[in-house]
Amino acid sequence: MNLLHPGQDGYAEELAGFQTAVPTAPAAVVAAESAEDVVAAVRYAAEHRLAVAVQATGHGLTAGTDGVLISTRRMTGVEIDVAARTARVEAGARWEAVIAAAGEHGLAPLSGSSPDVGVVGYTLSGGFGLMARRYGRAADHVRALDVVTADGELRRAEPGSDLFWALRGGRAGFGVVTAIEFELLPVRELYGGSLTFDSADVPAVLRAWRTWSAAAPDTLTTSVAMIPYPDLPMVPEPLRGKHAAQVRIAYLGEDGDSLVAPLRAVAPALADTLRVLPFTESGSIAAEPRQPHGYHGTNATVSQLNDAMLDAVLEHAGPGAATPPVLIVDRLGGALARTPETPGVGWDRSAEFVVRALSVVGDDGVAAVRRAHAKLFDALAPWTTGRLLPFVYGEHAPEEVAEGVYPAADLRRLRELNRRFDPENAFRAR
Ligand SMILES: Cc1cc2nc3c(=O)[nH]c(=O)nc-3n(C[C@H](O)[C@H](O)[C@H](O)COP(=O)(O)OP(=O)(O)OC[C@H]3O[C@@H](n4cnc5c(N)ncnc54)[C@H](O)[C@@H]3O)c2cc1C
Repeated sequence: MNLLHPGQDGYAEELAGFQTAVPTAPAAVVAAESAEDVVAAVRYAAEHRLAVAVQATGHGLTAGTDGVLISTRRMTGVEIDVAARTARVEAGARWEAVIAAAGEHGLAPLSGSSPDVGVVGYTLSGGFGLMARRYGRAADHVRALDVVTADGELRRAEPGSDLFWALRGGRAGFGVVTAIEFELLPVRELYGGSLTFDSADVPAVLRAWRTWSAAAPDTLTTSVAMIPYPDLPMVPEPLRGKHAAQVRIAYLGEDGDSLVAPLRAVAPALADTLRVLPFTESGSIAAEPRQPHGYHGTNATVSQLNDAMLDAVLEHAGPGAATPPVLIVDRLGGALARTPETPGVGWDRSAEFVVRALSVVGDDGVAAVRRAHAKLFDALAPWTTGRLLPFVYGEHAPEEVAEGVYPAADLRRLRELNRRFDPENAFRAR
């Protein structure tokens, strides 16, 4: 086991991840290379009565730890079983690797907007992907997980077991997953990309997207974003300095151009990247940044998107807002509204949309971002039904991370299982 203490060579490098705004100073970092290393690390933490936290890519970091941080970035194995249409993936693999390996066989995983994100952290959070309205959450397509529980035992979690239920949506709190097995879908290509519109057209685009997406077939997964592009040379023209509206589309049906014609008619687009593309290029749809930075974000699932709500979204997050975040509204429904065969932990199947806000943490710190986001989410509160775990980003107290995420019955069961599998609360950093 490669155990690193503060000040030792490699300690700081091992901590570094995508998120740079969550301070963390573990007593030790374990650069794990195998399930055996993870077992040894969990046993070491138990012996020294230290908390255990896990990091693969650092995309989802919410709370720092002063205990043992198990870094899984070297555990990157990906195996595809073409006949069974499944993948077995080690704890540190990113979607990018699975998409490439599955793509060689005309298969695709239920990955999300960024191929840079870690497979395990994403799936344990629920996993809301590019084909979510067609196939549902990634967590609901998991076949088995290998997990080291707080007692230092490597277990296999399979359908029917409490651990299998809790890990699929309950994220941390139950153990360190060393490998995950899940279904792949026979998807070789899709119609996808984005339409980006100028600042002046933002209100019209939001309203048009709401109407257009209401009639969407399940084969269409779509969101609309409002993005304040900085006026910096790194931002390409014609987006530089614009507060743009961007409609994002992933469509598995025929004749995508006809489907999007009503959107193209709303206003002239600043950029139009819609085309038939191989699933291996699906990361280009949202084209999210890959360079590490500090960010903070939260979200709300809502039962509708009425005019008062759109007005609030525009006021607090649109062009002209004092401190606008990147604001994304996703249409839920489709397969996300149906109960899957082996459901994992809670997901609000009745919600119609999720509204997510994400801000870069500037010199004013996290508190300023929280204040700005609170104005938006307070205005949406009358229609808010819950919150999605994957889109809680940046510094949060562990108990705050799960706020609003689980229905009461699921939360009770999760807490009972937490006490059973982790009586000393070693996995407290969620
Ligand atoms: C740019 C960007 C795009 C995103 N797009 C999407 C999207 O389209 N859909 C979506 O659903 N989510 C999306 N997310 C959210 C993402 O799925 C979560 O933040 C997820 O937790 C990230 O996992 P990670 O392993 O990459 O990050 P990490 O920060 O390394 O891990 C996050 C957390 O996951 C848990 N975890 C990770 N590995 C293990 C393990 N082996 N065992 C137990 N627990 C573990 C831990 O609680 C850890 O703190 C996105 C995030 C970013 C920053």
